[in-house]
Amino acid sequence: MRADIAEATRRADREPDELTLIVVTKFHPASLVRELCALGVRDVGENRHQEAQAKAEELAHLDLRWHFVGQLQTKKARQAAKYAHAIHSIDRTRLVDALDDGDRAIDAFVQINLTDDPGRGGAAPDEIESLAERVLNSRALRLRGVMAVAPIEEDPARAFARLRGYSDRVRALAPEADAISAGMTHDYAEAIAEGATHLRIGTAITGKRPEHG
Ligand SMILES: *Cc1c(COP(=O)(O)O)cnc(C)c1O
Repeated sequence: MRADIAEATRRADREPDELTLIVVTKFHPASLVRELCALGVRDVGENRHQEAQAKAEELAHLDLRWHFVGQLQTKKARQAAKYAHAIHSIDRTRLVDALDDGDRAIDAFVQINLTDDPGRGGAAPDEIESLAERVLNSRALRLRGVMAVAPIEEDPARAFARLRGYSDRVRALAPEADAISAGMTHDYAEAIAEGATHLRIGTAITGKRPEHG
């Protein structure tokens, strides 16, 4: 996988050190995360609060950064703020309000919905500035940039090109918030070509996820 990422990075004429690889370990047991850590993985991603909390607690002695990448309920936010090093799913100001209660610094990515379906995760593009401003005015959150999931029904290269434009809008407000969290198992190469800085890769590294209910 690292070789495939390196190849896509070279083709995009970018440098490997511009990219952070987050291994998404959702549905896999803590023992797998421990093995990944032994292999040198430091950034892991989870999308369900209860599962993330349990693993982060069990593996608290390891040198890992926990990235929360799923939808986060407002009432779970304060607890997530205790273990999460980064939250990639900042999609509404109320969530920022809830996270801002804590005293740990957390990296924040504003998630943007790249579809026209408001039921999908992420803020609508016309909310980008107000949401970014709210994060910039928070105490606990550090605005890192934008995040998105490519729509299944669209060419990921086109969707990620749009995301790059949204990233430009965030950087117009905060030049240091230049991170782009994008790229999964099937579209990381397109994401790298469009400037992604944080890849969130699951199955290509962990294998098929165990069955879940
Ligand atoms: C599960 C998940 C991933 C990883 O997906 P793969 O296709 O297994 O690489 C990335 N981002 C988010 C938000 C996810 O929920």
